[in-house]
Amino acid sequence: MKQSQLFTKTRKEAPADEVSKNAQLLIRAGYVHKEMAGVYSYLPLGLKVIDNLKNIVREEMNNIGGQEISLTALQNKETWERTGRWNDAVVDNWFKTEFKSGGETGLGITHEEPLTAIMAEYIQSYRDLPKYAYQFQTKFRNELRAKSGIMRGKEFLMKDLYSFSRTDTEHAEFYEKASEAYMKVFARAGLGGITMKTFASGGIFSEFSDEFQTISDAGEDTVFVDTEKGISINQEVMESGIGEKLGIDTSKLIEKKSIEVGNIFNLGTKFSDKLDLNYKDEKGEQIPVIMGSYGIGITRLMGTIVEVLSDEKGIVWPESVAPFRAHLLCLSPEEQTVKSLADDIYKELDGAVLYDDREGVRAGEKFADADLIGIPYQIIVGKKSHQDAVEVKNRQTGKTVVKSMTEIIEWLS
Ligand code: ATP
Ligand code: MG
Repeated sequence: MKQSQLFTKTRKEAPADEVSKNAQLLIRAGYVHKEMAGVYSYLPLGLKVIDNLKNIVREEMNNIGGQEISLTALQNKETWERTGRWNDAVVDNWFKTEFKSGGETGLGITHEEPLTAIMAEYIQSYRDLPKYAYQFQTKFRNELRAKSGIMRGKEFLMKDLYSFSRTDTEHAEFYEKASEAYMKVFARAGLGGITMKTFASGGIFSEFSDEFQTISDAGEDTVFVDTEKGISINQEVMESGIGEKLGIDTSKLIEKKSIEVGNIFNLGTKFSDKLDLNYKDEKGEQIPVIMGSYGIGITRLMGTIVEVLSDEKGIVWPESVAPFRAHLLCLSPEEQTVKSLADDIYKELDGAVLYDDREGVRAGEKFADADLIGIPYQIIVGKKSHQDAVEVKNRQTGKTVVKSMTEIIEWLS
């Protein structure tokens, strides 16, 4: 893609009311636009990052047997009344409104209720189980806090998967697989090593849930970790005196700020009981389905990557999620030989590179923009470049190597 055609531009300043580093950088680089506190639009570069993250998550969810669906944003009040979660005293962050034709609706905060109701139409026998379904969907939550940029949106993209199993054992096996798939997702998204599976409070059906917490000072959460042993406990659980149960000395754990990028739950039969999701076993007996839910905040994940991997010059995307594989910088497009070399590289790599072909922009400004935008490699074409010598700079290390045009094309196509 040619940068001269991209409608977004970089900016020197982020909006004055934007306090988070992730949103400041993403707005300045043209990835997102702030509509209101906690409400962000995704622009061409931003959408590419989102799509890359979705593809990573989609591959891992398909690998464990997930089937992709897309449920509605508008919610059926009656379904939610059956579990009690329509009640504002139970769930305090609904966006609700009225239909002109009469009656009330709300925008989906999560989707256990509607999917359980759908499954009740399709699951009758033990032969229909287990089943796993997931979606990428905008969730709406009337959040009070709005100081974390895209990491805490009032509308945000979540991947939510729901599992439907016959027995606790069958559920536990899938839960473990999902947990491993989550660790793969975070590693592939560049957050390996600093994202920890964390003991969190579970609710009614199991003592704990598992949160996936990325260690970062920008986080709103607090965890207590032993990185060597791979143990991490969130604050809530820590206060419940978990040390004895796990047989560990919690005074040795180190307190860290962290970002909850994912959360998985054993729901037991909480939803299947209330929404009549049962199956007939081999003996003809009606048994409630065992459920689990598995969430990843896709937009929060994008914000987390920016928080954790950026430097003083701007964003540093991991290759797996970057909007383009490389940023082709033509430093002096006014000079015919320089321009035609850059054009030749671009012709072979259209789609894989963002081509800064802008005229009348100083080289220094192009470098600064490329550093802010954060594409992993910068292919620098200037007066000294020729077919056999083009500089390639690594955004993260700042190191430069010289490659021939053919090498670059082979490497990136
Ligand atoms: P938090 O404690 O941060 O409010 P939560 O525990 O309410 O989050 P879940 O219901 O567990 O969130 O949702 C699953 C995942 O969705 C979370 O682990 C997080 O990554 C993401 N998420 C939750 N709320 C938001 C939000 N307001 N903006 C962006 N992502 C969010
Ligand atoms: Mg959670």
